Amino acid sequence: MSESNTEIQEPPVPEVSQAKSSRLTSTESRVAEISSLLRALEDVAGGSGLVKHNEDVKPHPTARHENKLVQVRLGMASGLFTALRQKHPQTAEHSLRVSLGCSSWALYAGLDEATRDIIEVAALLHDIGKIGVPDSILTKSSRLTPEEESLVRKQCRQGSSIVAECCGSTEVLQAIMHSTSRFDGGDDEQALRGEGIPLAARMIAIVDAFDSMTTDQVYRDAWSRDRALQELFEHSGTQFDSVLVKQFQEVLSEHHDVLTERVATRWLNELNNTQDELPWDAVQNAESPVPTKQGSASENSGRSLFEQKLIEAMRDGVVFVDVQAKITLWNKGAEQITGISRGAATGRTFAPSLLEMCSHGKRRIHDGSCPVARVLRTSSQIRQRLMILGRQGKLVPIDLHAIPVIGRDGAILGATILLHDAQSEATLEEKCEALHAEVTRDPLTKVANRAEFDRMQALFIEAHEQAHHPCSLIMIDIDHFKSINDTHGHQAGDEAIITVAGLLSSMCRTGDLVARYGGEEFAVLCADCNNAHAARRAEEIRRKLAETSHSQLGDKKITASFGVTELQAGDNSETMLRRADRALLMAKEQGRNQVVQLGNGMEKQPTKKKWWWLGRFSGKPVIETSLSTAVPIDIAIAKLRGFVSDHQAKIVSTKENTVELEIASSKVSCDRRRGDRNIDYRIELEFSEQRVMRTNNLGFAAGEYTSTNIEVAVRPRSTSNRRSGDVADRAQMILQSVKAYLMAKEEHELIEESQLLVL
Ligand code: GH3
Ligand code: MG
Ligand code: MG
Repeated sequence: MSESNTEIQEPPVPEVSQAKSSRLTSTESRVAEISSLLRALEDVAGGSGLVKHNEDVKPHPTARHENKLVQVRLGMASGLFTALRQKHPQTAEHSLRVSLGCSSWALYAGLDEATRDIIEVAALLHDIGKIGVPDSILTKSSRLTPEEESLVRKQCRQGSSIVAECCGSTEVLQAIMHSTSRFDGGDDEQALRGEGIPLAARMIAIVDAFDSMTTDQVYRDAWSRDRALQELFEHSGTQFDSVLVKQFQEVLSEHHDVLTERVATRWLNELNNTQDELPWDAVQNAESPVPTKQGSASENSGRSLFEQKLIEAMRDGVVFVDVQAKITLWNKGAEQITGISRGAATGRTFAPSLLEMCSHGKRRIHDGSCPVARVLRTSSQIRQRLMILGRQGKLVPIDLHAIPVIGRDGAILGATILLHDAQSEATLEEKCEALHAEVTRDPLTKVANRAEFDRMQALFIEAHEQAHHPCSLIMIDIDHFKSINDTHGHQAGDEAIITVAGLLSSMCRTGDLVARYGGEEFAVLCADCNNAHAARRAEEIRRKLAETSHSQLGDKKITASFGVTELQAGDNSETMLRRADRALLMAKEQGRNQVVQLGNGMEKQPTKKKWWWLGRFSGKPVIETSLSTAVPIDIAIAKLRGFVSDHQAKIVSTKENTVELEIASSKVSCDRRRGDRNIDYRIELEFSEQRVMRTNNLGFAAGEYTSTNIEVAVRPRSTSNRRSGDVADRAQMILQSVKAYLMAKEEHELIEESQLLVL
């Protein structure tokens, strides 16, 4: 069974939670243990890599250890494995786990050293053919089509031919070739069956299937160990060798720790000194495409054949340049992506103009800003999304990954460049953008929809509160729209709605948000904008709309009504919206085609921590203060009604000039506190009217006016949480909101103001 999604049966019910723990106790924990052993070894040896990494491009933390494991085991052929990791890291990790699993099993079964060698190497390379499988298939989350399955199978067969080029062991090749064979022979195309299939291949088939089933795949979640074993047993005798399945179960349940340790020791210590005995042929007489300074000819030539075979099989473009950026290698993948033949490219300098390279935003990249030249200059890696002129003469997105090649003496020898066709990723990003637009935009007007407005309003309030900047909300409703529909038809009505949305958008500034709130109703969030400014802007829009003739309505003009409010102390999304709505209703009631503004805005309110201390004495309110507002008592009470309605407060009692309210703290706190525990408060307000003599700043009488004095007390309904600072903070927010609605000030503020006047 292969790790791709070609042959695994769908699980009826994925058992994810169990699977996670079982995976941790089996192969992955083994890899982790070996990795830690490696780390200890590396610490002693103080190992260094040939490739330098800059700050931006760090290798996967476990990759270094796994690479070392593979290097030890495969020697020269580790380049194949590295390429597989580059292409599809999951497959490379899977192969490593399968190899370790097979090695433990071989140890348990008492197989001789030579057989273990064969099994380990074949297991590491059993999926190498996937280098030639397109990314879109490897990462596909749904079932593969029959054509895709056949392509994967074909490429997997190619795997043994890639290995054949550099491996002199027929046993290894046979093990790779038959690792996908069914035990019962399957269809007639299969050459071997039963025990005729090499033992190594039969073992790899089982560990491969087990690892695939117990690992999360793009197309399904991991199965539990028991579920995977059950699956192996269900297919034993048909897909798998039943004797071996039984033995594998024993390996999993017995001696696991001892086996793991012995495998690690073998891989790290014993094999390191015996690489010459590994089954690799160093084929002579091949020119190395890698810019070299050191190393024997036979070492380079042997290596070069692996690389050539591998590089030609890769779909990605692979380019080698020397230290002057001169191209020394240009593979088939590079030809396919760029449309430039190997002959035309080799020997030329790698420069943006060669590929007509542009930034992702389609701005031309000049030769002076060549990313590869930068790699050669700085000896650090670069990974970038770019556009190049593709084979079809159109700009195509690519991911360029350039890696410096550094010699043993530390001098730079050149660079390896990988060109990955990012068309599928880019298309995916475009699809995501389209999907985002679909869920956040109103399809008719293309402005934000109601859901997006709700989401953004909460963030908008939070951002402005944190920055202590004012922000406002304008609600707009087209006047007599029903009759417009009735007279000119629904289609014309739609077009009028689009025109209004366009007008609102055109009058917006950066940071504002226009949303279609409902049928012919819009909301505009005005960033960094106070009440007065928002009202002026609303007035401008109102006038402009009233002056615009609509061709779809027979050049008739339409009007709209506007409700404006600024975020004020103690507001949340709901209270702000309700106040703007109330203002809009007033505009309608007062005759339409006008702007009404409500609320006091965000006046600077000192946060007085003294309430903290008051709150510590049980029985006392957390806040007691005197407010004064420069309006008669009936107007002050009308304003209080606005507070009650917008905050959904409950009127508990009214007696003469006293009002007692009950309010939930969640109704005044801002949205980010929604998750907080709610606290109910009682607010007592005692109103009294007084005549005030107005004096000018020289202290002379300047007329009389009526003001209302309000004694306010705020206390939590329950006494249990009276000591918490949060209780006092929220009471303070309630007080600020009451003050904003009543346009009232506290005594100390009036005193401060009069002192300012005297000054
Ligand atoms: P008012 O001045 O009080 O706002 O009067 P109105 O007629 O605009 O108010 P009302 O809310 O009664 O009517 C709104 C109409 O808007 C009713 C509905 O048919 C129409 N409407 C809502 N959505 C759409 C839409 O998407 N397209 C069209 N053409 N009409 C819509
Ligand atoms: Mg309406
Ligand atoms: Mg209307």
